[in-house]
Amino acid sequence: MRNILTNIINPLSPFATQYLPNQVICIEASKITSITPQTQFKGLAPEDYTQFVALPGFIDLHVHLSQYRMRGLYEPALLPWLNQHVFPEEARSQQDSYAIALSEQFFQATLAVGTTMSVIYTAPYASACSIAFEVAERMGIRAMIGMTMMDMNAPIGLVQGSKDSVESSVALFEKWHAKTDKLDYIFTPRFAPTCSVELMQQIGSYAVKHKAWIQTHLSENTSELAWVKEIFGQNSYTEVYHKAGLLSPKSIFGHAIHLTDKELNLLSETHSKIAHCPDSNFYLKSGEFPLERIEAAGIDYALGSDVGAGTVLNMLHHAKMMNFRQSQYPVLPAKALYHITLGSARLLGMEDKLGSLEAGKEADIVFMQAPDGFELGEQTLSQLIFFGSEFSVKETLVAGKSLYV
Ligand SMILES: [Zn+2]
Repeated sequence: MRNILTNIINPLSPFATQYLPNQVICIEASKITSITPQTQFKGLAPEDYTQFVALPGFIDLHVHLSQYRMRGLYEPALLPWLNQHVFPEEARSQQDSYAIALSEQFFQATLAVGTTMSVIYTAPYASACSIAFEVAERMGIRAMIGMTMMDMNAPIGLVQGSKDSVESSVALFEKWHAKTDKLDYIFTPRFAPTCSVELMQQIGSYAVKHKAWIQTHLSENTSELAWVKEIFGQNSYTEVYHKAGLLSPKSIFGHAIHLTDKELNLLSETHSKIAHCPDSNFYLKSGEFPLERIEAAGIDYALGSDVGAGTVLNMLHHAKMMNFRQSQYPVLPAKALYHITLGSARLLGMEDKLGSLEAGKEADIVFMQAPDGFELGEQTLSQLIFFGSEFSVKETLVAGKSLYV
């Protein structure tokens, strides 16, 4: 049990954020039991964190654990970048010792930047995915993790047999879906060009039947779109997934940049979700996220780092990029914060547990300190969004446990 006297920045909606100075957060076991103004608090003397600001731990909706160590290796387009940098690096995770060290380093790095929930792609090996789960469980991490699936158009050593790929994904789901409170499996076909229709159909029907999550990439880059048309000959990329049964309220599509109105309607009607990765989209020159059209279509979206095409895990950086990577649309700080916290929790159906600091929710909290000379106050939100990398992380809690100090 902990009582912590601190200042709180809490997201309320895409348009509103609350700043609450001098509050006592009481934590028991995994949960926040109360938040009380210091003037009304009657319990034991709290720990003094008044020099820090407390925020709900950040949520990264799209990240490749297997690519953590190849960040910054540049090719100016998606497909050459995959071939030259991503695939050789992912192949290294076939070795268990490499996969263990990488998973430990990755999760430690997420905690160091205040991320308390990640939605993860691993390398296309069941062993590497199992290792990610085991390391996450041992470290107390909260995450959804999936083995990347590829049964065609991938290099030898990474391409999987269709049957093997489906069976090992199902086995991982069965093992991890209900094993712990903090971990879940997410079915993870990489993207249509490396997945056969049969594989996608099997995953789609299994996931819908078992109410499981699915993630993949959609409409990131124009060369990719042309390749999808060449392979599948459908009218659109979204229809390829729709016909395979992959569109559902529990499906998260990374990127979703070059979409027609018809595709937006399909995503909207099926209540599919989008992981918006602005850093990655401009790194690989994929294009600008059609933010206003996505919002007008009523499609739920939240931010992902997309490491390794995203260069850093720090979600405050990606919140800033959400503004910077719109040429006309000024994304305000409240909206940017919402899409790495409460909005992401809502998208995942976890709003009752995560996304804001409230009594009854899980104590997933990051405490941050402003740079020297900057006072905490209403203005801190805007400063965090635009130069958050200069704030230091004092402590990160997941489910009430201090995992980074
Ligand atoms: Zn990605």
